[in-house]
Amino acid sequence: MNLILLAGLFVIGGVYTLPVKHDSGKPPIKAQHNPGSGVENLIENLKGNDGDIKLTEAQIDKLLEETENPTRSKRQASTTDNKWTTVSYYFDDASGYTDDQKDLMRAGFNFWRDNTCINFEESETADDRIRVAKIDGCYADLGMNGGEQEMSLVDSCMRIGIASHEMAHALGIWHQQSRSDREDHVTVYNNRIKTGQGSEYAIKSNTDNYGVPYDYGSVMHYEEGASGPVMEADEPLHQKTMGQRDGPSFNDLLLINKHYDCLGICTDDLGCQNGGYPNPADCSRCICPGGFAGTLCDKRPSSTNAEFCVSSSISATTSWQTFNGSLNRDNIAGLSTESCTHWIKSPEGTQIELEFVQMKKMNYSCRTQSLEVKGAQEMTMSGYRICPIGTGIVSLSNIPVITTLGNKAILILRNSRGTFGFQVRYRYIESNNNGDCTDAFPECEGYAANGDCEWDLPYMKDYCSYSCNFC
Ligand SMILES: [Zn+2]
Repeated sequence: MNLILLAGLFVIGGVYTLPVKHDSGKPPIKAQHNPGSGVENLIENLKGNDGDIKLTEAQIDKLLEETENPTRSKRQASTTDNKWTTVSYYFDDASGYTDDQKDLMRAGFNFWRDNTCINFEESETADDRIRVAKIDGCYADLGMNGGEQEMSLVDSCMRIGIASHEMAHALGIWHQQSRSDREDHVTVYNNRIKTGQGSEYAIKSNTDNYGVPYDYGSVMHYEEGASGPVMEADEPLHQKTMGQRDGPSFNDLLLINKHYDCLGICTDDLGCQNGGYPNPADCSRCICPGGFAGTLCDKRPSSTNAEFCVSSSISATTSWQTFNGSLNRDNIAGLSTESCTHWIKSPEGTQIELEFVQMKKMNYSCRTQSLEVKGAQEMTMSGYRICPIGTGIVSLSNIPVITTLGNKAILILRNSRGTFGFQVRYRYIESNNNGDCTDAFPECEGYAANGDCEWDLPYMKDYCSYSCNFC
């Protein structure tokens, strides 16, 4: 398929030529559908808020100025806010939060404390503090504004992922789909955006991505949007990855750690594996990509609750085998999401093929029941999410066979309510890359040196396998 695509791209009028360059320095993967690219929307709609982000007058003025005059570096982390030394927050007694709700919100906030160098404390008297209260929906201020600022978390916001999302805004982080490189990954249909929500989909010119790859599974990414998706992922199997609220992704943590200058704190080389790095909150252990655990990220995460499912490791052969995974929570009334992680492994130098057969599910959203599939991309990236519409036994035959990059596939099953399970067929094949390890064009070497093998992996996988050491 790649060869045919390449032929189409390269041979124009009989002349062998390089593809048209995009602003990333490489040919566009697909046509864009973002007339106006949202700047007009931003200016028209920034009247005090950006979806669930509340902005101060000064922040709006600065944002508009920078949008009209976009000469600054581009950051997902805002440059218009102040950073916290210690994040102080308290739960407003008048809101009547239950102990379970407080624990859940703490879990969302403390995820940042436990994986960064940022301190957190509960205090009603600190000079700069966040009053957490049931005000109106879920929202937060952007960055530290001085004095007391608000964060609203009403009953419908009671998810660890939502609490950590709002706290990330307070730490100075915009939405993922506001990133300057959004158009290389997502198509936004402006005509489907509800009136008044345009700014949420506008690209912010003053964001800095710190070299962290665009991550569909960021806890800061909006979901696709109802009634005809507002956003379409360029990679269709990532469509349902957008909008997860289980918790911050590996790349979300990396961004915050860079924004708060946490990465220089740990000086010992622990030998973290699978893309992990020493945890600034505890330099004796690594921060691991999803699907990995242990001090050095070389272990499989155990299930969150063995009463519901047990994580497993299975070995592929050259013959198709079938695996059934389930995580049933039929009579559970609670706030938690349980998960199981299954590893499928094969010998070095081979790749795994996954053919998803069917799913047994309830008619809930992807935030309630989903299957994450990792291995077709770098393990540091969020995986595909499978959660088809329907109830009962739902066929997955429309999903193409997924081939891993290397000799491991990771399947993460998550469920917070009801019956849920899946069936997959799997086998391994000799690596496709062995006999055809080439770059499509000489620029690949420069792209690879620029770090593109990580942040633009699908493209580089297709065109620059040699320079990226994919084969
Ligand atoms: Zn938000």
